[in-house]
Amino acid sequence: MPFKYKAEQFEDTKILRYQIPDFNKLTIKQKKLLYYLQEASLSGRDIYYDQNYKFNLIIRDILEAILTTYKESKKSKEYINFLNYTKKLWISNGIHDAYSTIKTKPKFTKTFLKNQLLKVPLSKLPIDTEKHRTKLINFMTPLIFDTKLDNKKVNLNSKDDLIKTSAVNFYENINQKEAENYYSKLSKKYKNLSHGLNSKLIKENGKIKELVYKVNGLYTEAIEKIVYNLEHAKRYSENKEQEKVLEKLIEYYQTGDLKKYDQYCELWLKNKNSRVDLITGFVEQYNDPLGIKGTYESIISIKDLKATKRVDIIAKNVQWFEDNSPTSKEFKKKKVQGIQGKAINVVTEAGAASPLTPIGVNLPNQRYLKEKYGSKSVTLSNIIYSYNQVSKKSGALEEFAYSEEDIKLSKKYGELAYDLLVDLHEIVGHGSGKTKKGVPDYTVTLKNYGSTIEEARADLFALYYLMDKKLINLKLMPSLDVGKTFYDGFIKGGLMLQLVRIKPGEDIEEAHMRNRQLIAKWCYEKGKKQNVIEKKVKNNKTYFIINDYLKLRELFGELLKEIQRIVSVGDYKAAKHLVETYAIKVDKKLHLETLKRWNKLKIASFSAFINPILYPIYNSNKQIKDIKVKYPDNFKDQMLYYSKNYSYLPLFN
Ligand code: ZN
Repeated sequence: MPFKYKAEQFEDTKILRYQIPDFNKLTIKQKKLLYYLQEASLSGRDIYYDQNYKFNLIIRDILEAILTTYKESKKSKEYINFLNYTKKLWISNGIHDAYSTIKTKPKFTKTFLKNQLLKVPLSKLPIDTEKHRTKLINFMTPLIFDTKLDNKKVNLNSKDDLIKTSAVNFYENINQKEAENYYSKLSKKYKNLSHGLNSKLIKENGKIKELVYKVNGLYTEAIEKIVYNLEHAKRYSENKEQEKVLEKLIEYYQTGDLKKYDQYCELWLKNKNSRVDLITGFVEQYNDPLGIKGTYESIISIKDLKATKRVDIIAKNVQWFEDNSPTSKEFKKKKVQGIQGKAINVVTEAGAASPLTPIGVNLPNQRYLKEKYGSKSVTLSNIIYSYNQVSKKSGALEEFAYSEEDIKLSKKYGELAYDLLVDLHEIVGHGSGKTKKGVPDYTVTLKNYGSTIEEARADLFALYYLMDKKLINLKLMPSLDVGKTFYDGFIKGGLMLQLVRIKPGEDIEEAHMRNRQLIAKWCYEKGKKQNVIEKKVKNNKTYFIINDYLKLRELFGELLKEIQRIVSVGDYKAAKHLVETYAIKVDKKLHLETLKRWNKLKIASFSAFINPILYPIYNSNKQIKDIKVKYPDNFKDQMLYYSKNYSYLPLFN
């Protein structure tokens, strides 16, 4: 039977599945290594819930208690709405939508919640006497329903105190100024460390202190389990280099020492010959309005040997790409070092990488580490493959393409173009450029605009080169049509299609979405006189068509040059101007039209993933004799299974 890539669809979300190619060809040692890495990853799952919002764990706990003890009709509207709400909570790892960062609106009623909470057996609730049941109801209801209470997870509006107005759980009892002062002092004192990356900052009795994520620190209950499983994993290392990586990672989790984190990154970059790899720790900084704190994430993978050849070619030529880009000479790296690219097949993901997953990752994020040790870029092959299998059948291409020719090209080259975009974005984009001497990292200088600007920089590198003959000479693509079809898709996506992910009246919040609109809109406005991109209306439907691909490429180059400058010198004002002018506000009329056309197709705009599960087979001596993989197809069951088996944290931390 063919593998079913789509498990289900509800409201605007579809749940996808992915396979692990070549798993059965691995050695038993590699399989054991993967198994323990899976266990380590999942052990940290709840950290991300708690980082996202202080009350996420208790809310999830109670909703799951209702779900698992519910005995009435599962066909009732209230129940279905309640179930869908809970699914969305799992997908976003909390009550705030992962993209808009606004509280997900419940479609079930307060009465339903109350009635159900009255029926859940006491033993399933985090209270010890019946007397507290009403209290619990009164506590829960506003958390879920009240849009005036902690409504936004990450507020990036620079007019506000970003910490006070963001619900995310990285700071407590402290304001933006105090936090900024605290970290700017640290950066001056101890250069080149990622201060604040792995801690919560609080003020107690007038004193500011950091609660560090580590063994015997904040989240110790989960981190101890992570360490325990990493110790096991280490025994099955493929080679010495990998063993050192795991060893350093363990030390980092044990001590919370950021110097050890830097050393871990260096070792991780040097470990090139292993088939198995992991990305883990407190990694991405998007969820902190100040861009300082890292969210827990884990991606366990095996190298995709075939696709890695493609990525390798790009990585080997990265100096050429840097030298020939339109950026100013002073901001180019003279020697792009240690840029590695590879394609991976994901084995499991957790934390901020699951159930919503990235498709490409470039790490480390810290510029000082990148400049010193280079970076590693990965393209998530089996995830992209799974997306493509499902989207091919959606009908979106046909609805939003202007001509038959566009459709033909996209069908022919769309997948290749997308793979190349991800490779170029991660390897050439994030790996290139240098900061002017004495200027701190963009996360410090560009603050709340940093992520959007850095993502734009990476996309622009990729866009610029997708129409370059060099890629044909390197045999990465057969013709410039690959670039053309990507340009079509990008402009259409940035100006219209991606708007299906936000609700009428909302602004664009997520960094990648902001960056795409920034680029598309800037080029549309800049090229207006020469009609580079044209807005056409046919049968009351709006289309954006590109009249001059080469001119558009020049515009990409021009914007790239400016954005590289902004990052290199840390020009906050210019970053703010670009983002505020082009990236955030939505063309309301176009938004509604896009939603209307999209909704007719009944495609879900969001995709979340069910992970495969690795499980051990024991012999009669209770020793592991093999590791098998299964591919669950029920999202709800997987989430309940995770919560049951990997909930190590207290409900409040
Ligand atoms: Zn990126």
